Amino acid sequence: MLSQVVELIESKSHFGITTHVRPDGDGIGSSLGLYWLLRSLGKTAEVFVKDDIPRAYLRLPGAQDIKRVQRVDREFDAVFVIECSDLDRPEIHGLEAQFIVNIDHHATSQHFGNLNWIDATASAVGEMIYNLCKATGGKVTKEIAECIYLALITDTGSFHFPNTTDRTLKVASELVKAGVRPAEISQTVYNSYPWSRIELMRRVLSSVKRDATGKVAALRQTLEMKLESGSIDGDNNGFVNIPLTAEDVLAVVYMREVRSGLFRVSLRSKGDVDVSSIAESHGGGGHKNAAGCRVEGDWDDLESRLMSELSEAVLRAERALEDTITPDIDRTAA
Ligand code: 5GP
Ligand code: MN
Repeated sequence: MLSQVVELIESKSHFGITTHVRPDGDGIGSSLGLYWLLRSLGKTAEVFVKDDIPRAYLRLPGAQDIKRVQRVDREFDAVFVIECSDLDRPEIHGLEAQFIVNIDHHATSQHFGNLNWIDATASAVGEMIYNLCKATGGKVTKEIAECIYLALITDTGSFHFPNTTDRTLKVASELVKAGVRPAEISQTVYNSYPWSRIELMRRVLSSVKRDATGKVAALRQTLEMKLESGSIDGDNNGFVNIPLTAEDVLAVVYMREVRSGLFRVSLRSKGDVDVSSIAESHGGGGHKNAAGCRVEGDWDDLESRLMSELSEAVLRAERALEDTITPDIDRTAA
């Protein structure tokens, strides 16, 4: 919990920080926010991740200092593992030998750390790093603020996902007071893609379809589409949300071919439709409205299975809503 993390930071000096593979805005922003916080408290800190940093995040202060590693060899006083469901998610060897501090906002966290600070009410880990900054008595510097702000906007869809709370907006307000220029960060994150993104979007959107109810949509991205469009990692950010902009669509599955027969899956939903349990049942995880996993098998079979699982999740949410409006006794009588 938070007080133990504060104690650890106060009593130790040399820290490592890492996050999951294919790092997203919250993973990178929170890691770098913590990096600047630790340094401002006179500690040494090193951020290391396995995969490339998405280009849009390279302009964050400190992003150029992030090391790309597959193994951690030196011993830190503690290594902070940001936004990971388990110790395999960073895909970095040698973590098991370190003192691990698990910081996450997913309720599904496996509490794999020597210390575990999980706050499922936080919109992003970035919000937790802000709280940590306050709890250590640290100043919210412009560097810290910019990194945390990026974490907030990427995990809340610029404050329009349901995880946005009054606390998220209050933290955002404090970050702006600390020097963040929201328009500049939005420009960097949302309007700085290469044209290959548009080429990829055109192809992926050409695959869009809905089920018979019209409430579940599916998108596909083949290896060929990636190749033809010349796209790079990160170009497809946000594609999964496009079908949700249609009023009737309540859930989306977006499958990307990693190699023949192996797919990365993103699931998204609106309101009470829960996709995290579907992702978990396929060995992945995530939040109620945003989750992911990897699946292996025949594309058509997997897609129709995932679509029908989403359709069931939609039905469950609709039934739960009916139950709150109409007591059970009335429904059976009807
Ligand atoms: P995305 O669809 O953007 O890759 O992921 C959405 C959410 O699901 C994120 O919160 C991410 O942490 C979670 N997620 C995606 N893929 C996996 C996975 O393979 N395992 C776990 N545990 N969580 C995942
Ligand atoms: Mn997050």
